Amino acid sequence: MKTNELISLEDRFGAKTYNPLDVILSKGEGIWVWDVEGKKYMDCLSAYSAVNQGHCHPKIHQVLVEQSKKLTLTSRAFRNNQLAFFYKELCDLTQSHKVLPMNTGAEAVETAIKTVRKWGYEIKGIPLDKAEIIVCDNNFHGRTITITSFSSDENARQNFGPFTPGFKSIPFGDTDALENAITKNTAAFMVEPIQGEAGVIIPPDGYLKKVREICTKNNVVLILDEIQTGLGRTGKLLAEEHEGIQSDLTLIGKALSGGFYPVSAVLSNEAVLGVLNPGQHGSTFGGNPLACAIARKALQVLMEEGLIENAASMGAYFLKGLRQISNPQVKEVRGKGLMIGLEFHPQAGGARLYCEKLKENGLLCKETHNHIIRFTPPLVITKDQIEWALEIISNVLKI
Ligand SMILES: *Cc1c(COP(=O)(O)O)cnc(C)c1O
Repeated sequence: MKTNELISLEDRFGAKTYNPLDVILSKGEGIWVWDVEGKKYMDCLSAYSAVNQGHCHPKIHQVLVEQSKKLTLTSRAFRNNQLAFFYKELCDLTQSHKVLPMNTGAEAVETAIKTVRKWGYEIKGIPLDKAEIIVCDNNFHGRTITITSFSSDENARQNFGPFTPGFKSIPFGDTDALENAITKNTAAFMVEPIQGEAGVIIPPDGYLKKVREICTKNNVVLILDEIQTGLGRTGKLLAEEHEGIQSDLTLIGKALSGGFYPVSAVLSNEAVLGVLNPGQHGSTFGGNPLACAIARKALQVLMEEGLIENAASMGAYFLKGLRQISNPQVKEVRGKGLMIGLEFHPQAGGARLYCEKLKENGLLCKETHNHIIRFTPPLVITKDQIEWALEIISNVLKI
């Protein structure tokens, strides 16, 4: 079946929760993907940073095949021989003390919320049911009802109530606002080191460092949602390293499996995850041997192939090239590592238009919040490939 038939089938039978570009992909390799007509594109979205290791990485693929022949799921009623290695390797790599494995990013966020509330009552001594969690305006942490409860995106919230109480939202990048919002009932502050879905919003230098100080001073758990910024995307394994800090809970997902399988995790110091006892949280698929084997290899690929260093150097090169494109419609180009946002002035007519044109020219990316394009190619991208992308982007922006 060809593109148009597949699109009409999809639109007829599927719920319309996305507004995808009209390209039907059927194959991927490294930074490249192919559509059903055989046309080749550079993927500059990487499934929202879930395929940092590149599409269908052969080493991760091999583990997927081999592990799936041996054992895929035991549930946590029994132990499996991959879990301990996954924990140990992940903790060594991220200097964490404990891991709680889940599947999707939203589940990791929900897990963190449950955990810090319990920590608040049992360790901090917050009166029962009074725990508050502070989040930031324009956050994106997922799509469940509780997470939707503290979204500031009206479209994401409208008519989904009643919502989960216990959240307070403050401006992103504003440490005074954080200090003022904290009360004796504040259990945690949850923040993305760089706001991805909001359009690659980078906070002022020193923000996370100051946030760390404020949280420590007030005995508030600092939760960093690194589901998008983590695992090499910004040129460090975790974005917190840019400011030399450590969170209390770090959430990772997306590239933790190199795009092969949903794997997420909550990383923590002992005190926080230590409040959970048997029967209080879990997931049938969380920590399954297939997920663990895939994640172990996905992490190994990230380290052994130098993808984090590559993200730093190629990101800087890409950013510099994008900034050299002179187009009066472009308001700002910003980024860290290979997490780059290009923002148009409102009068440019919306970023979608440009995404459509880039697609026609063989480069896939996606608008976020009307006026911003996010460029986040797989971390395996080379200098020549960035030059190729820059040429296409500058041609399209000339039009
Ligand atoms: C994608 C994302 C999530 C949600 O992850 P899912 O796997 O889609 O549930 C949460 N937080 C951030 C920062 C994300 O980018």
